[in-house]
Amino acid sequence: MKTFSLILLVLLNPGSASAQPHDATDLHARIDALAGDMEEQVIVWRRDVHTHPELSNREFRTSKLVAEHLRSLGMEVQTGIAHTGVVGILKGRGPGPVVALRADMDGLPVKETTGLAYASTEVGIYEGQEVSVMHACGHDNHVAILMGAASVLSDLRDQFDGTIKFIFQPAEEGAPKGEKGGAGMMIEEGVLKSPDVDAVFGLHISQNGLAGTANYRSGGAMASAQRFDIEIHGRQTHGARPWAGVDPIVIGAQIITALQTIVARQVDVTSAPAVVTVATFHGGIRNNIIPDKAVMSGTIRTFDPDMREFIHQQIHKITESIAGAMGATVSVTIDPGVPVTHNDPALTARMIPSLQRIYGPTGLHTAERITGAEDFSFYQEEVPGLFFFIGARPADIPPEKAIPNHSPYFYIDEAALLPGVRAMSSLAIDYLQSTQPQ
Ligand SMILES: [Zn+2]
Ligand SMILES: [Zn+2]
Repeated sequence: MKTFSLILLVLLNPGSASAQPHDATDLHARIDALAGDMEEQVIVWRRDVHTHPELSNREFRTSKLVAEHLRSLGMEVQTGIAHTGVVGILKGRGPGPVVALRADMDGLPVKETTGLAYASTEVGIYEGQEVSVMHACGHDNHVAILMGAASVLSDLRDQFDGTIKFIFQPAEEGAPKGEKGGAGMMIEEGVLKSPDVDAVFGLHISQNGLAGTANYRSGGAMASAQRFDIEIHGRQTHGARPWAGVDPIVIGAQIITALQTIVARQVDVTSAPAVVTVATFHGGIRNNIIPDKAVMSGTIRTFDPDMREFIHQQIHKITESIAGAMGATVSVTIDPGVPVTHNDPALTARMIPSLQRIYGPTGLHTAERITGAEDFSFYQEEVPGLFFFIGARPADIPPEKAIPNHSPYFYIDEAALLPGVRAMSSLAIDYLQSTQPQ
């Protein structure tokens, strides 16, 4: 069968025997071989980026490393997008669809305690304070995997029609106070335009699985997240004469309790989960003074846009009603936050075979919903996207001892990198190949 189709192709394209197209199996074999050749270099990049993590919107060194690599592959490279973002544009042999692959580049204000030989000793400035910086979310791996995929796919540029955009994004963890950044700003600055992106893929590493495994969830996979802030304005008085003032602490206590009834008593938790957490509460300075003011802040996590709107309304209503009934005034602010990381079901179904090929029938699992949030969701609001998770738990750590992302002890099994490169490369090629006009 293969021999026959090759003969046919030669007959149809007698002048193009040297640029003979490969069938899917050949291309997959080439992806795997090229990725295998890159593994050592990907590990070198990953360790280098790991040793030199940079905070959100300050990814200067990382972005330079990425841009130089993409340029060395002969790609058109755009830099300085949304502060330190880099985009590489790889054109195939002819016109076709446009697929984007995304990696995030920022580290976190965490002091690394892994004891690794290449552990970070970097410092940075976070909210005015000098802090230690660590790639505690594993974005160093995302950068190295996508740099590897860029090498693989640029070697295959005469094997596909269409365009691949490599998006290296700053500030996934959130821009510093007073600054914009992240996926939303990349989109504002046109990263999904000219050429217009048809689909976007991204991944995240964690210890939720051994290296060489992956998991995904069709539909709502990660939560929408908003921060809320509440300020209760009472009237200061002596702690011995509470009737002479308005106590914002007692009012705050009522509000905190009542906010818990939104999820517990007012939303249908069988349709989608939700979380309302009050995580800070500050008021007062001395044991015998009832203060003027108390402030609290918290987070809202939802998977359904209507439920999100309802919860926002109820936070306003409950807070304002309780404060009003007790003689205080309040201000409630809820930030726009991050949308649901929503994997387009049709695209997900279409791309599962690509992930199955890499991770095998026993290595690819469906994921539980994650109440964490991810700003990849902003791309998915614009174009269909698939965001999946790759396992990287070292074999000597049992599942119940898995170290979470953002921990100072977080580390990964580098055996996860090669399948990551193969997966990102295959998703791009398979998407482009399966969208060819007939
Ligand atoms: Zn993170
Ligand atoms: Zn992350």
